[in-house]
Amino acid sequence: MKAPCPICKKVVLWEGNAFRPFCSERCQLVDLSSWLGERYRVPDETPEELTGFPVLGDDREGMERD
Ligand SMILES: [Zn+2]
Repeated sequence: MKAPCPICKKVVLWEGNAFRPFCSERCQLVDLSSWLGERYRVPDETPEELTGFPVLGDDREGMERD
């Protein structure tokens, strides 16, 4: 049985292929990294209010010195 690799579309033998349905370890890793990339992209959409915090400490210190 032969099947096309989902990554590079190269037709490879299914039998004895340790990386099926991929043609090679390289394509298997490409698929895995793209899948992980999509997973990691989800928490990246955090609201901006969580990334920028106000710096109030410096102002208070300056006022006390004066
Ligand atoms: Zn491939």
